[in-house]
Amino acid sequence: MTNNPSIIIAIDGYSSSGKSSMAKALARTIGYRYIDSGAMYRAVALYAMRNGMISPDGIVDEEKLTASLPDIEINFNVDSDKQYTMLNGEDVENEIRQLAVSNNVSQVATIPAVRHALVNMQQKFGNEKGIVMDGRDIGTTVFPTAEMKVFVNASAETRAQRRYKELTEKGIETSYNEVLANVKHRDYLDETRAESPLRRADDAIDLDNSTMTIEEQNQWLLNIYNSTIENLKS
Ligand code: C5P
Repeated sequence: MTNNPSIIIAIDGYSSSGKSSMAKALARTIGYRYIDSGAMYRAVALYAMRNGMISPDGIVDEEKLTASLPDIEINFNVDSDKQYTMLNGEDVENEIRQLAVSNNVSQVATIPAVRHALVNMQQKFGNEKGIVMDGRDIGTTVFPTAEMKVFVNASAETRAQRRYKELTEKGIETSYNEVLANVKHRDYLDETRAESPLRRADDAIDLDNSTMTIEEQNQWLLNIYNSTIENLKS
């Protein structure tokens, strides 16, 4: 493995499509760094919520948030197997997964200044290659020349079911219908925003994992990685 070229792997797809789990698993297996770009948008949304920049009906004070962007620092702390999202030095990993943040994040992610700031940070993480990043616009906007691009999809119902299970297992109270509505709403906002909308890169490889087990999708991804490396070497 030591002679393998170091590459950038972009994994994009719809919310709760399981892309983070598979991206994380691949990074672990091949010894790459994993970056969850969605966590960065969630951290900015949390910052905006805490600082009164989002009204109860979800309207974001774009001007205030844009002016605050230089004060927002996002990092990741890695501790054995888990990654923690740090917002200005504070571990916010659990808080950013709450439904309240999920309900506001896509609105925050439509703001061009937010996207520019985060895309910039994300590109810096990729400076040294050897990275797996997942999100919505990684293969199109953040790393358009990534050597490996995957686009993950599954039906909204399958994704909502998975997310509901994940949240209830974590003890977060919600209902399946609430999660399904959130998944569909985020799909809509992600697909229709003007600035780098969720879009499959022309050179991405598609994966519909609706009927796959976690092991099957991890193996599928590892196979794609292996053949990408073989192609690069030949
Ligand atoms: O991946 P996750 O669902 O945690 O991302 C949260 C939200 O952040 C998404 O619903 C999407 O609106 C936004 N996002 C984005 N671009 C990315 C990653 C996430 O707009 N690259």
